[in-house]
Amino acid sequence: MRYVSTRGAAPELSFDEAMLTGLARDGGLYVPAEIPQMSAADIKALAGLPYEEVAFRVMRPFVGEAFSDEDFWGCITRAYAGFGHAARAPLKQLNENHFLLELFHGPTLAFKDFAMQLIGQLFETELTRRGEKVTIVGATSGDTGSAAIEAFRGLDAVDVFILFPHGRVSEVQRRQMTTPSEANVHALALDGDFDDCQARVKDMFNDFAFRDAVGLAGVNSINWARVLAQVVYYFSSAVSLGAPHREVSFTVPTGNFGDIFAGYIAKRMGLPIDKLVVATNQNDILHRCLTGQGYHKGDTIPSISPSMDIQVSSNFERALFDAYGRDGKAVAQLMDELKQGGFEVSQGALQALQEIYSSGRVSEDETKAAIGVWLKSSGELLCPHSAIGVQVGEDQREAAIPMITLATAHPAKFPAAVEEASGVHPPLPPRMADLYDRPERVTRIANDLAAIEDHIRDARAK
Ligand SMILES: *Cc1c(COP(=O)(O)O)cnc(C)c1O
Repeated sequence: MRYVSTRGAAPELSFDEAMLTGLARDGGLYVPAEIPQMSAADIKALAGLPYEEVAFRVMRPFVGEAFSDEDFWGCITRAYAGFGHAARAPLKQLNENHFLLELFHGPTLAFKDFAMQLIGQLFETELTRRGEKVTIVGATSGDTGSAAIEAFRGLDAVDVFILFPHGRVSEVQRRQMTTPSEANVHALALDGDFDDCQARVKDMFNDFAFRDAVGLAGVNSINWARVLAQVVYYFSSAVSLGAPHREVSFTVPTGNFGDIFAGYIAKRMGLPIDKLVVATNQNDILHRCLTGQGYHKGDTIPSISPSMDIQVSSNFERALFDAYGRDGKAVAQLMDELKQGGFEVSQGALQALQEIYSSGRVSEDETKAAIGVWLKSSGELLCPHSAIGVQVGEDQREAAIPMITLATAHPAKFPAAVEEASGVHPPLPPRMADLYDRPERVTRIANDLAAIEDHIRDARAK
């Protein structure tokens, strides 16, 4: 299996190379050259299997020769062993045909654990085989960073540096990043917003001297292996509602477009998905774009769903690549225009996007109201991100087709917002009840590339 860059000017790579590289050297993102297909019989055969077995069957064709069956299976089983629910991704019913896919039973209580725990195992296995070490650098609006630190803490072959926007993540998110004591994990509080964090990470990848000197590797949602790991729960949930014989739709609380893009890959593999609905908060660049208003950056306005406070959605580039007929030059040009503030999507590409994705936007007040309404009608206490998804999903649900909304985080990850909206304080699961008592370790850092690079050079294990 070969991987190509969305900007068409970087070398083709194998799965392990694409995983260790993250961002392509032409600034693009890696995507598979072809999408493996699952037949109706293949999909039917997933029914009733344990999550790990579904994961193996869905992902195996993308991995090619990079891992043996045995190594890949070992990575999968270790990745999900620490989850707090035997089903890994259980499905709950909200009303007659609206379902909630709970993706928050991993160690940091958000769906990012599904990909990050696996990628930790894959990195460890591959780097040990090669006898190499890498420095992982990531930007986070809160959940990616905690998931990455949790997945890589204590591993020998890896140093991890996570940039998060100072003062703009929840206390639980911050503590999940700052309390692990292992010397190979480093939390950096940047004076800026999430887009600044993400931009500095991109800058580091584009500084080839630095990139090579520290062996930079990325695990942000641009990393193809992360997208791949997220394809699995689209299959497991759809099959449990009757796929391949019955179509289903999905609604996804969206920020960087990684999770919903995994749903698109599932659809391209043959899973009968009717609608893929992008749900956004007030930072609605994707909703505006998908409704024909072009892709133009605004200011990021902090919200009670901080993991969706994004104005430049990295993985959207992958969707554009396909919408523009896999024309890497066209994508490179759009990304140049984005640096100046934005671009218009061509008529043909917009039509291609609208055939796959629909969208909806939920305001802050509507989000709070939704948390209360759904608690009353279904008994489910939703985190703000999941509430946005459920609200948009309900608006777009059709009577004949089940709607599955992805619950991306546990309500206890955002206790203040949830309590204000519902009157109910969501307790942490018992296995992390001492989080507020553990000592924190964090470095405050300026929004300055040179300062960040200096710090990383000094602080990593040599
Ligand atoms: C990361 C995250 C999202 C957004 O997911 P993307 O893949 O970036 O679109 C939504 N909700 C929560 C809780 C998250 O952590």
